[in-house]
Amino acid sequence: MTATAEPLLSVRDVTMTFPGKRGRAAPVRAVDGISFEVAAGETLGLVGESGCGKSTTGRMIVRLLEPTAGSITYDGRDISHLRQRELKPLRRDLQMVFQDPHSSLNPRQTVARIIADPLLVQGHSAAEARKRAAELMALVGLIPEHIDRYPHEFSGGQAQRIGIARSLATGPRLIVADEPVSALDVSVQAQIVNLMERLQRELGLAYLFIAHDLSVVKRVCDRVAVMYLGRIVEVGDKERVYTAPAHPYTRALLSAVPLPDPAAERQRERITLLGDPPSPAAPPPGCTFHPRCPKAREICRSEAPRLRIAVPGEARQVACHFPEEP
Ligand code: SF4
Repeated sequence: MTATAEPLLSVRDVTMTFPGKRGRAAPVRAVDGISFEVAAGETLGLVGESGCGKSTTGRMIVRLLEPTAGSITYDGRDISHLRQRELKPLRRDLQMVFQDPHSSLNPRQTVARIIADPLLVQGHSAAEARKRAAELMALVGLIPEHIDRYPHEFSGGQAQRIGIARSLATGPRLIVADEPVSALDVSVQAQIVNLMERLQRELGLAYLFIAHDLSVVKRVCDRVAVMYLGRIVEVGDKERVYTAPAHPYTRALLSAVPLPDPAAERQRERITLLGDPPSPAAPPPGCTFHPRCPKAREICRSEAPRLRIAVPGEARQVACHFPEEP
């Protein structure tokens, strides 16, 4: 997967705050001032534990959610606060693939209708949309003759292929894939990852690949961004982040990924984090990772570290007062 220099997507200081439930509880800052870019044709992996804000980030990018603050720029245009009518042309370019393929497909619609729907919304005729749906089924490895079947007649992997075909219908340039393989068996996961890589090569797609499984992200992405409690704590080239993580949280996550070599697996040090992530409704002061960080010092409890270049000679950014030396 290769990338060009110009960012296709630019996310700057984006925040998402949800109101407290029934107006009584404290507001929840699910995403807290994150910034990153995705270049045309590249894959950025967005990783972190459940509830860290990565799915909310994906939904803001495709504008299923409107950010509370900050800016999202797509192809040079600020899309952060576009109204529904203004979003229609954007939907051609920005699409989403969801985690659970069956629950994201309408069980009462045929595959023809599911895949053709984005084209009908964009004003294509029913005949054109059906013809394109059959072509897309073939492109993602489904049998076009099955076009009039319903989602329950397909396996989980096939249903995810239908979801991918639907996302491709309007010819997007960027796809936000939110845990696209985590609901699938391991053998099927590899098939879907292979399909996404082939489609990227053939169609020049960019992906924001959201996942909690670092092994999958390592395979598919060019760069990786690590999220913790609504903030990005490390972002950089995949090989460098995976081989020499600079943030203590990245190190802990990677230390839990099984190694293929049993001897190396026996020898390596596992970093166990204390406790669960704090609630985004009541984040700790300073560095929000400090209650779980084995390297925390006094300054960490009061002063939040900024995301900054922390490794000389690399475009890697780390939010830590005491990043690891590579
Ligand atoms: Fe740990 Fe302090 Fe770095 Fe936060 S700033 S990750 S608490 S060392």
